[in-house]
Amino acid sequence: MSSNTQVRRRSIMQLLTPSLHIETIYDLPSAWLKERAITSIITDLDNTLVPWRDYRVAEELADWFDSLHRSGFKTLILTNARPAPTIVEVSHRLNTELIVGARKPISRFFRRALELLDSKPHETCVIGDQIFTDVLGGNIVGCHTVLVERIGHKEFVGTKFMRLLEKLVKRRMGTV
Ligand SMILES: [Mg+2]
Repeated sequence: MSSNTQVRRRSIMQLLTPSLHIETIYDLPSAWLKERAITSIITDLDNTLVPWRDYRVAEELADWFDSLHRSGFKTLILTNARPAPTIVEVSHRLNTELIVGARKPISRFFRRALELLDSKPHETCVIGDQIFTDVLGGNIVGCHTVLVERIGHKEFVGTKFMRLLEKLVKRRMGTV
């Protein structure tokens, strides 16, 4: 393999590697956020905050958002899901900004989220359950990225295919 190919492979792997890998959003350490001076949180919706397309808000989830807001964090849900009243309802319940119908990992949706939050990438962390949408998109714009394990096993059929690729990437990262 030429050294050029090696360099390219390394940087692609860097873009696919989260800054932090945890089990659930509730495991996000406040010390980790503080050390990095993170003030804004962009989070995925399906399989990160709620099971896929199950838009009921658990009390634990509402409490988590409450405590983030009380600690001064700004929050935004960034989802590729199509606009739906139930999703708007979730964002109202959680008192958070919302962008629906995004196409992660395309950068302009992340930049729009940063604009709405009035935040710089280095003070923002992107949380999600998918490497090729949440982690990749967040890393491309220079945010911190947090990968969580998906909540349920139900998901969009296209996502299932991407999971096979994710498995390969995670194997290379040494996390499975
Ligand atoms: Mg998701």
